[in-house]
Amino acid sequence: MAEGDPNCIFCKIIAGEIPARELFRDDDILAIEDVNPQAPSHVLVMPQAHVANMSTFSDTASAEKVARLLSKAAEIGRQRGAKGFRLVINEGSDGGQTVEHLHVHVLAGRHMRWPPG
Ligand code: AMP
Ligand code: ZN
Repeated sequence: MAEGDPNCIFCKIIAGEIPARELFRDDDILAIEDVNPQAPSHVLVMPQAHVANMSTFSDTASAEKVARLLSKAAEIGRQRGAKGFRLVINEGSDGGQTVEHLHVHVLAGRHMRWPPG
């Protein structure tokens, strides 16, 4: 695993070592169905290079890579949510992050409440 973290479940999915329902893959980005969906459509969009969170990604990756990740998440949101969608990036324990490989949640297909829990 060239850039992968051997202890990271998303790096294992990116490397094809753990199965996932892939929706999109290019040189930099992978999008998969969340295994425990919180909405009728729940997609995770992530950089393929291991990076723990948005703070590190935005500090270390090019502005173009950061923009492309968010742009792809919004594109999938538009495809999945005829009436809109929600993008969520959890970071740290208070943020509710459980997998320490950056991913954008794309939630669609139901009305989202505010504030989030
Ligand atoms: P977070 O709590 O923001 O770190 O989100 C982690 C997400 O990854 C959760 O929504 C999990 O349901 C999801 N997840 C964990 N393991 C897998 C897996 N093997 N395949 C797909 N999604 C997963
Ligand atoms: Zn990783």
